[in-house]
Amino acid sequence: MLMEKLGMDKIEESKNRVQALRASRKDIKWPLLSEEEKHHLVHQYHPDYKKEAYGEIRIGPNRGEKTVLEVVKLLEGESSIASESISLSAARQVDVLIIGGGGAGATAALSVKEAGASVLMATKLRLGDSNTVMAEGGMQVAISPDDSPIQHFMDSLRGGHMENDRTLLKTLVESGPSVAKWLLDIGVLFDREEDGNLSLRPGGGSSRARLLRCKDYTGLELMRVLKDAVLDEEIEVLEFSPVVELLTDGEGICTGAILKNLDNNKYLTVQAKTVILSTGGMGRLHIQGFPTSNHYGATADGLPIAYRAGAALTLQDTFQYHPTGAVYPEAMAGILVTEAIRSVGAQLVNSNGERFVNEMETRDAVASAVIRECQEGRGVETSSGRRGVWLDMPLVDLLNGEGTLKDRFPNMDRQYSRYKIDISKDPVLVYPTLHYQNGGIKINVDGESTLKGLFVAGEASGGIHGRNRLMGNSLLDIIVYGKRAGRAASLRASETEFRKLTLRHLEEYQKEQKSAGVVPQIVSPILFPDYVNKD
Ligand SMILES: Cc1cc2nc3c(=O)[nH]c(=O)nc-3n(C[C@H](O)[C@H](O)[C@H](O)COP(=O)(O)OP(=O)(O)OC[C@H]3O[C@@H](n4cnc5c(N)ncnc54)[C@H](O)[C@@H]3O)c2cc1C
Repeated sequence: MLMEKLGMDKIEESKNRVQALRASRKDIKWPLLSEEEKHHLVHQYHPDYKKEAYGEIRIGPNRGEKTVLEVVKLLEGESSIASESISLSAARQVDVLIIGGGGAGATAALSVKEAGASVLMATKLRLGDSNTVMAEGGMQVAISPDDSPIQHFMDSLRGGHMENDRTLLKTLVESGPSVAKWLLDIGVLFDREEDGNLSLRPGGGSSRARLLRCKDYTGLELMRVLKDAVLDEEIEVLEFSPVVELLTDGEGICTGAILKNLDNNKYLTVQAKTVILSTGGMGRLHIQGFPTSNHYGATADGLPIAYRAGAALTLQDTFQYHPTGAVYPEAMAGILVTEAIRSVGAQLVNSNGERFVNEMETRDAVASAVIRECQEGRGVETSSGRRGVWLDMPLVDLLNGEGTLKDRFPNMDRQYSRYKIDISKDPVLVYPTLHYQNGGIKINVDGESTLKGLFVAGEASGGIHGRNRLMGNSLLDIIVYGKRAGRAASLRASETEFRKLTLRHLEEYQKEQKSAGVVPQIVSPILFPDYVNKD
């Protein structure tokens, strides 16, 4: 109790310093880092460069390459059906099977339906339970007169450390305006200015204001409309039915999947002419012990199943740690505090009340600067041992007029007010939170993986964002590549017959495990983090 009291006193002292120094730093413009300074900062402090957190992948298409130990374990894991006897005769047949009911999956399903192919969606939780629904800050689209897809391309390439797949990126930015129009047409209510024009805001690492948003619940609005459209189109959705394994014809073509019904633990074999995987990200792996902003189902299920069926990964060693995850109160640890708040003036300050970075640097640089402050003793420690720096949000009202925070960020305001924290009066503690997998399953511009017949859309795919996704580019990605994958998978299905259903790829993978001396440490996909539903 005494420890806690002393801790709280120190935190209060630090908070008072932040309040006292607010007026003096309000108008100071903090310089952007040079490329060299940024390189140095990121290499020294970003978790992606912590060598001991990485290991070699010993089997499969990316054999000999590295990724974090948590993902190595997943890729080298044992299939959950290895010890089951499962009938491979198809209980269901469909042109296109969509796996995952978030933004990318829903968009792909609509696109398949439009193309006239038959479609079935299987998802782990309910339709819409996903990371998409949690997206806050907005979607980048180059539509203002002073902007262009080329500018958007350059910003994204710089943000991605020049390692983005340029063809994928070009298609992403060029498709932005048309997919934004499509979203408006199907009913998404993006914020508008008083004159009725769409409102655009700046985002970290972007040279132009190009974020379309719906206050601070952009993903909720997108998913509301996509979900309605899926239901209106009467697309069949199997909920609580995660995929646990893919099926192939034994000759390198994906031909279906095995689903597990979570209500009765029974398996369902689905034969499909093509499969679209849109299972999202991996925050719930808690890489390097980080908290996460992701939903409970974000356990990277798509990676091991696609990998052992023969699909290569790309940039599987790079992850995004969003600089501003909540630290306090404990119940909010890891929850995202949207970057958009920094874009309208909230400053990051250390325990001494001093600024230490330009808040609009790319996420990897800002996260690295926060980690540096904490490692070098300029962070604030809570009574439960979490560390963080201050995000001085009351500045937003000082700079933009009273009421701005509550008006533009109602979601954030509501989350904190539950714990009696008034974000228009008090700064809050933040620290990087595991947010996004920059890499994933390698795709071409139609969303097809290196395993023929397996298409991938959304966060499960890799390449578009290089080593660091720019804010707002994922919501764009899921719509652009959801549509492309849907169209291409439908076209392929129209030219294809149903093929054999086998698990030969799994047998071959098991042989490879044996000959490489790999003893699986876990069953993968894991489906849920191990702290869920513990008795
Ligand atoms: C808090 C938060 C804020 C964000 N803010 C922004 C933002 O402002 N702008 C932006 O561009 N991006 C943002 N992002 C990132 C963006 O929201 C996601 O990257 C994107 O929505 C992912 O979409 P998806 O369809 O690929 O995956 P998801 O939306 O996560 O959907 C994946 C779906 O697959 C299902 N699934 C998982 N495993 C299985 C399985 N084994 N079988 C069947 N189904 C499965 C899941 O249940 C889910 O329905 C944010 C992310 C978070 C977490």
